[in-house]
Amino acid sequence: MIEVEESETLQMLRSSVREFASKEIMPVAAKMDEEDYFPADIFKKMGKLGYLGITIPERYGGSGMGYAAQAVIQEEIGYASASLALSYGAHSNLCLDNLYRNGSEEIREKYVPKLCSGEFIGSLCLTEPSSGSDALAMKTRAERNGNGFVINGSKTYITNAPYADLLLVYARTGDAYTPFILLAGDKGVSRGNKFSKMGMRGSPTGELYFDSVDVGMERIVGELDKGLNVILSGLNSERVILSYIFLGIAKRALELSLKYSTERSQFGERLYNFELIQEKLAYMYTRYRTSRMIVDRALRSLEKDRMNLLDSASAILYAAESAEFISREAIQIHGGLGYMKNAEVERLLRDAILGQIGAGTTEIRKKLVARELVKQYKKNNNFLNENDMY
Ligand SMILES: Cc1cc2nc3c(=O)[nH]c(=O)nc-3n(C[C@H](O)[C@H](O)[C@H](O)COP(=O)(O)OP(=O)(O)OC[C@H]3O[C@@H](n4cnc5c(N)ncnc54)[C@H](O)[C@@H]3O)c2cc1C
Repeated sequence: MIEVEESETLQMLRSSVREFASKEIMPVAAKMDEEDYFPADIFKKMGKLGYLGITIPERYGGSGMGYAAQAVIQEEIGYASASLALSYGAHSNLCLDNLYRNGSEEIREKYVPKLCSGEFIGSLCLTEPSSGSDALAMKTRAERNGNGFVINGSKTYITNAPYADLLLVYARTGDAYTPFILLAGDKGVSRGNKFSKMGMRGSPTGELYFDSVDVGMERIVGELDKGLNVILSGLNSERVILSYIFLGIAKRALELSLKYSTERSQFGERLYNFELIQEKLAYMYTRYRTSRMIVDRALRSLEKDRMNLLDSASAILYAAESAEFISREAIQIHGGLGYMKNAEVERLLRDAILGQIGAGTTEIRKKLVARELVKQYKKNNNFLNENDMY
């Protein structure tokens, strides 16, 4: 596996997002966590800077860049505040990028510019109370009603739902699936609970109810009954892009650990002089580096083929576990201080845990990786392709 140098454009983007994150996001990260506060003003600024519509062509109000640019933003924001990065990812990748790629020209013109500017906040609604990992067992149903559809059902654990204006909702249409746009103001759409979470606080998570919501055919995203590919390709893209949040957490946790272990002394020695602390730092770095390599590989695959499940599932499987491992070790290195509520490493661990649950769980990722490997092995008598030896 070879790491690829970032282009000059991406390097410039990284340095401007880093500056923005350090000036605007870092100062409110602790408040977001303590008060479960969502900084709507910062989200709007991200729209003005072109971050929200980073993958969208300029004629629809976007910045005309690709997934690599979205990954840079995701990682740099994740380093400052993983919860704001989660809300960014849900809006910019799960909802907006998906809507643009699959939507009609009418949808692109009507809704995409509003999501790019931040005038609208978006959510992607797949999970339901009785279908999480088994997402395709969803019960939300759209039934024909004259020239349109009537939608009934509910969704849960939806990022941004408490504030979202536009909802990209997956529903059953007969035995198939179709994505629809619903607006928070549509008659019959209501918000349920806003959840209080252990981590990713400040990224609002909530329930949605759809009670006989009437929509016209123009609200279908893509083609009627052709939603399965939209769901599956969207999940791959989500796995790769959200992995960058966990790289951001891991980087921050390692950096704070290096700082502390070079400042704090016990037994007349700086902590980094103890071999057991050195072992931690070495493994933390190695996990961070290998996470970056597998995630960058998945990003390159995503740019070529949005259906590459093996790369996307293995990337987030490893990156999420590594972020949790690294932030846990960071707490250990900080000793009692790491266990205190005002320690940043304590927040990092709580945020990192979401990585093994949101965007599909670790168990489901393992199942998918093994399934894809066996499929590839049976087909090629080798789990690697000939031109994929790294
Ligand atoms: C903060 C947060 C934000 C989220 N944002 C969104 C969002 O924006 N949009 C959205 O649609 N969803 C969102 N989700 C939902 C998320 O995708 C689901 O929580 C996740 O897919 C797991 O579903 P579940 O919670 O129903 O757990 P379940 O599916 O009930 O799983 C419970 C446990 O059983 C295990 N399990 C289930 N099936 C198997 C199996 N076949 N083999 C082995 N183990 C299994 C799971 O791995 C898990 O450990 C969010 C969740 C959270 C917590």
